[in-house]
Amino acid sequence: TKPSPFLEPGLRTSANSLAIVGLSRDSYQPITLEQSSGAVDGYAEGATLNTRFGSFPHSTLINVPWGSQVRASVVDTGSRGRKRRREDVESESTPMPSQDEGDDKPGQQALAKAVTASSGFIYLLRPSPELWTSGLPHRTQVVYTPDYSYVLQRIRARPGTRIIEAGAGSGSFTHASARAVYDGYPRGAADKKGKVFSFEYHEPRFQKMKEEITNHGLDDIVHITHRDVYQDGFLMDGKSPQATAIFLDLPAPWEALHHLSRRKTLKGGKPDDSDSNWESPLDPKQSVHICTFSPCIEQVTRTATELRTLGWTDIDMVEISHKRLSVLRERVGIKYASDRGVNATPADVNEAVKKLKSDLKRTHEFHKGQQAGNTSESSDTKMDVDDGSSKPDKNGREPDSEPADEPSFMQGRLIHRTENDLKTHTSYLMFAVLPREWDDEAEAAALAKWPC
Ligand code: SAM
Repeated sequence: TKPSPFLEPGLRTSANSLAIVGLSRDSYQPITLEQSSGAVDGYAEGATLNTRFGSFPHSTLINVPWGSQVRASVVDTGSRGRKRRREDVESESTPMPSQDEGDDKPGQQALAKAVTASSGFIYLLRPSPELWTSGLPHRTQVVYTPDYSYVLQRIRARPGTRIIEAGAGSGSFTHASARAVYDGYPRGAADKKGKVFSFEYHEPRFQKMKEEITNHGLDDIVHITHRDVYQDGFLMDGKSPQATAIFLDLPAPWEALHHLSRRKTLKGGKPDDSDSNWESPLDPKQSVHICTFSPCIEQVTRTATELRTLGWTDIDMVEISHKRLSVLRERVGIKYASDRGVNATPADVNEAVKKLKSDLKRTHEFHKGQQAGNTSESSDTKMDVDDGSSKPDKNGREPDSEPADEPSFMQGRLIHRTENDLKTHTSYLMFAVLPREWDDEAEAAALAKWPC
């Protein structure tokens, strides 16, 4: 079995394997690193990753420890090889603030910059489902990390679990569930039970998913099938996948639910005795946990009706409202003053800040002196009060810059803001449980374990 970069990434990047390139806090790009022995696509250095932070020949990205920062090639690969195409640059990501603050408009400026600059850097990150979700090629709406992490624990996905998933879409949930059910080494061994049975009826999406699963070394965990599950259910070559966990991200989950029962059942819950060889796709000896993922409340009510009719219990619904908080220190400034009705000029504010810093520093030094038991000598006399007239200090810093040991409480008021770049409503998550099968045999087995 080919090692999976998601499950067995090793310590370093390797050729012909996936790596995630970190361009900025919110910009990740998956690439397959290519070992090339000559010019490729006009680039003398061979396969090259072009970003707005510069060009990175793959040869500089292979056999590098995961997490490394890699600087752009000092060679201008664009002009030495071929002229960079405009679309190479314009499709590239938004800047990493620390290396390219202020210029976040792709286009002319970026084009000029990218062709000449080689001072940028990227990070090479180990593939994980979270990073894959952030950078994967979107073919559909996808399930994001805040939702799938909650879903996977509610449906009790753990090493060895057998999950049914439909539809596969862009494979975001598939990758997260493959990691959750992965039950270790040796890969592919017969006693490894953890599997994801994934279904997709859109042919091109199915083909693309199949390719990705193979490239990511997940073939022995994820079985992807091209099928309309409303019509044809969830058996694998007529055999039961023996699933205990189900995730349906379909436009009409209620259309598929009758295939996920213990007995052959028609839509609406009527038993269907027409096929005595019918197998349930569910593990008869364990309860089954399901989640359906639907954006509209009408879909939720229809699904709930069908779940109740088919004997599912503990039906409930959750909406994940994920918020990211940005925590920062707010400096005293013009706005701070004007919010408080003070008509301040920049000079006033600078003066006020200096005074405030000086007072705080005095207080801080005093307390430090007291803590050290050094009360005999006035801490004031030892203090280097910044009166604004000082020259650059011995480290060459300007008087207005922060002292390296400035305590955090002097760096401004700690505040937090909600970042509004994440949509708060993704979908409603419906959960339910189907109890395990219970028959005479199960009862006898239970009684046999009874102590009396
Ligand atoms: N959960 C996926 C992810 O995280 O990337 C996204 C799923 S996408 C929203 C829904 C997928 O369901 C689409 O790719 C669609 O083609 C597929 N689909 C819709 N009806 C289907 C059916 N009857 N059988 C199988 N797949 C179906």
